[in-house]
Amino acid sequence: MYFQNPVFIPGPTNMPECLRKAIDMPSLDHRSSLFGEILHPALEGVKQVLKSETAEIFVFPSTGTGGWETALTNTLSAGDKVLAARNGMFSQRWIDMCQRHGLDVQVVESPWGEGLPTDRYEEILTADTAHQIKVVLATHNETATGVVSDIAAVRNALDAANHPALLYVDGVSSIGSMDFRMDEWGVDIAIAGSQKGFMLPVGLAIVGFSPKTMGMLDSATLPRTFFDIRDMAKGYANNAYPYTPAVGLLNGLKMATEMLLSEGLENVFDRHHRIASGVRAAVKAWGLDLCAVSPDLYSDTVSAICTPDGFNATDIATHAADKYDVAFGVGLGDVAGKAFRIGHLGSLTDVMALSGIATAEMCMVDLGLDIQLGVGVAAAQELYRA
Ligand SMILES: *Cc1c(COP(=O)(O)O)cnc(C)c1O
Repeated sequence: MYFQNPVFIPGPTNMPECLRKAIDMPSLDHRSSLFGEILHPALEGVKQVLKSETAEIFVFPSTGTGGWETALTNTLSAGDKVLAARNGMFSQRWIDMCQRHGLDVQVVESPWGEGLPTDRYEEILTADTAHQIKVVLATHNETATGVVSDIAAVRNALDAANHPALLYVDGVSSIGSMDFRMDEWGVDIAIAGSQKGFMLPVGLAIVGFSPKTMGMLDSATLPRTFFDIRDMAKGYANNAYPYTPAVGLLNGLKMATEMLLSEGLENVFDRHHRIASGVRAAVKAWGLDLCAVSPDLYSDTVSAICTPDGFNATDIATHAADKYDVAFGVGLGDVAGKAFRIGHLGSLTDVMALSGIATAEMCMVDLGLDIQLGVGVAAAQELYRA
């Protein structure tokens, strides 16, 4: 078993050496101005990555899932109505969390492989003249199907319906890798995690709250203690946490945002787009289809690739791990066994992507798929050369 190969799962992503070193630090007093010199730049860096002037940033020792819970429990009360679409495993899990918290979720069933149904959202919001819907949930990038949705279009649906509902966006697999505009899109809560676009180990939930949602904290009655952002805000004001912070990870987060901002967010997005385009060129050369049904939905952070009927797509990930020590993502939920996933986000170059494409190709040939070695690699090489 070798640890030298890059991973091609859509999180956790590859960690740059400098971030691994930034995390590895001596213990320090987490109620000191020294801690403040780590915490506050990390929060400011996240705010810039979210493209927000006004958001308040909170970082918990948790994961993206804890970010969902932070959003719901700080702003809502049992029985509140929420509108959400189910178009993949992650949107499904967030819906499930809402239901377990006693929220009244209006679920719009959407085919897996399609984006958020903004036209349906607009119809439903327009029909809700009593304004019972409090929040619209949107999964920006459905990691299970490799589908990116148009958050500006969700905002337009809300505005066209003249509806005051808030917009909460799961950007766990998009933020820091694909364009995300919290203020411009009128996003009220944005949610990320440390182990995807931020290129860190798992361990942090990262959330941005708009001024409007900061005004809802005292009226929301869902139980919360660990995730109460009022306690967190009080802690931050004193260079501290309500409990013990993950200081090393926060130092990593500070440096990760510096890396993203010094590369330039637009350059980061262009790099992801180019790498993803190479993967898509390879998929086309293999004669396979993406799970995402149309090019406007193609995710620049993960590709879910459908394999022919009768073939178990999970075998590709198993074989890649066993024979080549390379990790690919398996299909989840409705597409389990029907698709495998190549994650192409975070710390990745064209050359690293070529190794993943070449490995996927070897696996598919080993497992008897009718694909000629080298065709996918060649298609990606042409794209990366151009
Ligand atoms: C990974 C992911 C999550 C869950 O994050 P965890 O850190 O595993 O809790 C939620 N939403 C999306 C879109 C994801 O890709």
